[in-house]
Amino acid sequence: SVPLTFFGGLGGASRRGILVKGSNYLEALAKAGVVVFDKTGTLTKGEFKVVSVVSAAQAGEKDVAPATAAPAGASAAAPAGAAAPAGASDELLHFAAHVESFSNHPIATALREAFSCLDDGCEVADVHEVAGKGVVGTVNGHVVAVGNELLMQERGVACASAHERGTIVHVASDDAYLGYVVIADEPKPDARKAVADIKAEGVRRTVMLTGDRASVAESVASELGIDEVHAELLPQDKVSEVERLISEKGEGETLAFVGDGINDAPVLARADIGIAMGALGSDAAIDAADVVLMDDEPSKIAVAIRVARRTLRIAR
Ligand code: ADP
Ligand code: MG
Repeated sequence: SVPLTFFGGLGGASRRGILVKGSNYLEALAKAGVVVFDKTGTLTKGEFKVVSVVSAAQAGEKDVAPATAAPAGASAAAPAGAAAPAGASDELLHFAAHVESFSNHPIATALREAFSCLDDGCEVADVHEVAGKGVVGTVNGHVVAVGNELLMQERGVACASAHERGTIVHVASDDAYLGYVVIADEPKPDARKAVADIKAEGVRRTVMLTGDRASVAESVASELGIDEVHAELLPQDKVSEVERLISEKGEGETLAFVGDGINDAPVLARADIGIAMGALGSDAAIDAADVVLMDDEPSKIAVAIRVARRTLRIAR
């Protein structure tokens, strides 16, 4: 039987925008020792903005003379309505935005927003998403691939090594390399506090998992005070990483995974406590999760742990 105080705990949590799906998860939250975060959409806003577009030719020049004064961002993506520099970088963005028409990944949204003429009558077909890598489809009969280095490798496309700070999205048409787009995301305003607060609650180990590049992941993790980071992971790698962390957990400790559900619903299901972002997160995530944060604020994790501990103290 469930002690009455648990109903109080569940109610108290829900008044703070934290939906806990059962009293067993309050018990689990009270024992949280390891908290694992997904990066994009969880600790960062997931609101990517296109910072620059670099054509293959420009990237090639850069590789030859990396010290020249002209920055790679010289051909910054033109906002809607602006006089865009015509040419290769326009074509690149055109292909990328069209093939991302049906994706709800934050990267897809950024590419569509940066390209203002989506209704130009292009025919987009056979689109499929390659989880943790990108998206492939046809635009006016050309096979267009948009995604990270893994996707390009998989298709045998040699891509430029980009050194800009940010997430790099490569674009190829009929397996010919067109260049890359640099996009940037930023931490949520309460992300640093979220990490500090859970540590203050006694969480021993904080970990960040991401499919993004190591350089981006490490800079975000150090900015937020996260102990440990694993980058360039595919969705299934996130599951095995969480399984490894579960096997290393201390006596009586639980592991919580916090994600937005885009590419990480299986991890939410595998963790002792799956915590999902409710506003940005997908329906699949909300289904797979044990705890849902209605307003997507990671700082609510510490609040949930505090409420859970208080409830358990009263119940005993
Ligand atoms: P995270 O682990 O940070 O939440 P994801 O697992 O969703 O990120 O994606 C990992 C990487 O896969 C992204 O950083 C990006 O390089 C690539 N990717 C995934 N989906 C897309 C897409 N629709 N378009 C372009 N790139 C994508
Ligand atoms: Mg994510």
